[in-house]
Parts: sequence; structure tokens; C-alpha cells
Amino acid sequence: MAAVGGSPDVIVVGAGIVGAACAYELAAAGADVLVLERAVVGGGVTAAGMGHLVVMDDTPAEFALSAWSRQLWNELGPRLDARHAFVRCGTLWVAEDDEEYALAQTRRQSLVRDGVACEWLDAQQLREAEPALREGLRGGMRVPDDGVVYAPAVAVWLLAQPVAGRIATRLDAGVERVTQNGVALAGGETIEAGAVLLANGLQAAALLPGLPLQAKKGHLLITDRYPGTVRHQILELGYIKSAHNASGTSVAFNVQPRPTGQLLIGSSRQFDSVDPAIDAAVLARMLARAAHYLPGLPGLNAIRAWTGFRPATPDGLPLIGPADPFAGEDMHRSTWLATGHEGLGVTTALATGKLIAAQMTGAGTPIDASPYWPRRFARQEVSHG
Ligand SMILES: Cc1cc2nc3c(=O)[nH]c(=O)nc-3n(C[C@H](O)[C@H](O)[C@H](O)COP(=O)(O)OP(=O)(O)OC[C@H]3O[C@@H](n4cnc5c(N)ncnc54)[C@H](O)[C@@H]3O)c2cc1C
Repeated sequence: MAAVGGSPDVIVVGAGIVGAACAYELAAAGADVLVLERAVVGGGVTAAGMGHLVVMDDTPAEFALSAWSRQLWNELGPRLDARHAFVRCGTLWVAEDDEEYALAQTRRQSLVRDGVACEWLDAQQLREAEPALREGLRGGMRVPDDGVVYAPAVAVWLLAQPVAGRIATRLDAGVERVTQNGVALAGGETIEAGAVLLANGLQAAALLPGLPLQAKKGHLLITDRYPGTVRHQILELGYIKSAHNASGTSVAFNVQPRPTGQLLIGSSRQFDSVDPAIDAAVLARMLARAAHYLPGLPGLNAIRAWTGFRPATPDGLPLIGPADPFAGEDMHRSTWLATGHEGLGVTTALATGKLIAAQMTGAGTPIDASPYWPRRFARQEVSHG
């Protein structure tokens, strides 16, 4: 990470929540960081997402990153203000039938064993916790330390913090190419640096061809203000199945209470579309699923619906670490990646920043970093012939 003359130690490409968290941690470790953003800070997928801060445990590596990062959010929370809309509202996972009830019991045992606070609610307690839910649900699992946040505002905040090193941010600075010494911008300008970190989401694949990234389209809808309608982020347990589908279209009940009193309703997952337009049929399916759990929902006014594209990898884990073997011979020897966070990138951004800074500065990492290394895909290709 040696800087060249007056050049920055690190160029971070992309100022979404992931790039901002990485820039913040690198600068906190003393690096001089230049963030290059082609549009505005936090305006990419970060602005399109839900900002649910949630421990997910589909694999040990997903658990390690999300649990650590959620802890970092809960430590950061008291330093944020109303603009950042950080609320530790907890997640309520709803079991509809016996199969989901059994799944919830197993998940709860495993989360508790791993030190995550998690309570079981029977049908009666579930109704008391969330009276707007329909009758007849089997029970629920409450994870009280999960929360929500408005990630675009946090990205701005992270880049503005006084830290040991310096963070400079340039907007309207689209990177076209990684060069041997730094990057080349769209207008032809070149900038040298000690290292280059690509944190530009799905667009990282345009700079490193062959990167295993795929867009997973999602719809969200926000209502008018109805304070107190729900108190937790509420999800059906079937969300886990939907979240890990590797093809096709799926919807799941996922509703978030915003501090404004609005309800943010999700969620859909689509692999077969790169069209940002709202797909009326998918949106209707998603809302019908939500109304199946919250019968009062069709009576509320919707204000706006939108879509976003989650940057997904084939194994559902992000790409965090050295960019080899995807970086070409003609690129900077110290090219790094922090992308592919799919539907968990807000949750896992803070831990990603720490993992990147620790590896780039040669410090030890508090969790095993190897499950997230991009080179795991090259290994698979080799072993599968
Ligand atoms: C519908 C939906 C719901 C979601 N819900 C949640 C949730 O509840 N919880 C959660 O944790 N996550 C959620 N996510 C996922 C989360 O939003 C993303 O994982 C996260 O925002 C990714 O952040 P990022 O910084 O990697 O990417 P981005 O926010 O896309 O940032 C990348 C930045 O790079 C810039 N850029 C791109 N190319 C270049 C270039 N060549 N040069 C310069 N700049 C460039 C872009 O303009 C952009 O600002 C959701 C996503 C969607 C779509």
C-alpha cells in the first residue's frame, strides 16, 4: 500500500455504504484515502435497499460476518443522529405452520448457542407483540438486537469523520480502468495510488471482467405515515428460502417500521431481469404476500414503489480481499475488492471495512477472512476442471 509521491495511499472506487465503510476504516488506520464516485455518495444500491440490520445464519461465514457487523452497528448507533434513522427495533421472524415452527426452534437454538439474544414467542405472545398480524399464526422468534438504519446518510457521515488519515471524496469521477499504478477516469485523467480498492457494487465486473457477480432485482414499496402499526421488522421464516433461491422469481413478507411511521414493504427477488422498471405482477404478488400476514395493509396508502439490484455472488457470500486472480497483469499489483454483498450489504458494511483495512495494512483480522476471498471462485473453477 505504498503511496507514490503526493498520491493517496488508497483509491476507493465507489461511495456506497461499503466503499464509505472501507474508506473510513482505512483512514482510521492512518491511510490517506481518495474516494472516487461517478455519481453521488450513497446513491447506488445503498439508496434502493431497506437498511435492515440483521443477523443471518445460513452458513457459518454468513453468520460470522453479519453477527460481528451488527455488533459494530450497535456500537456506532449512539453516535448517529435522527438523519441516520438508526433504531434497534429487533426482528420478528414469523412461523406460519408446523414446518416453520420447527425451523424456528432449530434456528433459535443455534443462534442462542452462538451468543445471539433470541426469544421464542407462542401464538398469543406473537399477537401481543404485533397486534396487526393476522390470527392463526403458529408463533415467532424475536431477535431483539437487530435494527434498521438509513444507509445513504451513514455513508455521507462516515466519509466526513475526522480520523487519523485523510479522506478526500471526488464526485462525478467515473473510473474507467484500473491501471498499473492506479486508475484512469472516464475523461482520460489518470491517478496514481499505493493501492486500488473496488467497492463499486455490480459495476466492479465492468472493471474486472469475469468477476462472478449477478444482479438480483428487488421491489420495495413505502406507505404514508401510520405510526405504531408495527414495532419490529417482521419477516416470514420462508424469507430464508426465498433469499437463497438461485434462479427465478420469489417473494416473501418483509415489513419495516420507519421512524417516520411509514411502513417499508418488501421483498422480491428476481434473477431474470436487468430492467429497473416496476414489474406490476411481481409487485402485486409481493403485496398480496404481505397482506396475507398483515390483513390491514390493503387499507393503507402507498406513496412510492421502486426497484434495486442486489450484487449477488454464486455462493451468497461477498467478495472481500485481494482481487487476484481477476485482476489482469496490466492492473495495479495491489488491487482489492469489497463487493457482492447481495441483500446484506448494509448489515455487513462495517465489518467489511474492518476486514479490508486489517488485510490491506497487514494487521490480523478478528474473524477468518478466507471465506470471503474472491480467489475461492478461481479455486472452484480449477477443481471442477
Ligand atoms: C430491494 C433491496 C433491499 C435491500 N435490503 C437490504 C437490507 O434490508 N439490509 C441490508 O443489509 N442490505 C439490503 N440490501 C442490500 C444492500 O442495499 C446492498 O448490499 C448494499 O447497498 C451494497 O452497497 P455497495 O456500497 O456495495 O453498492 P452501491 O450502493 O451500489 O455503491 C456502489 C457505488 O459505486 C459507484 N460506481 C459504480 N461504478 C463506478 C465507477 N466505475 N467509478 C466510480 N464510481 C462507481 C456507484 O455510483 C455507487 O454509488 C437491499 C438491496 C436491495 C436492492
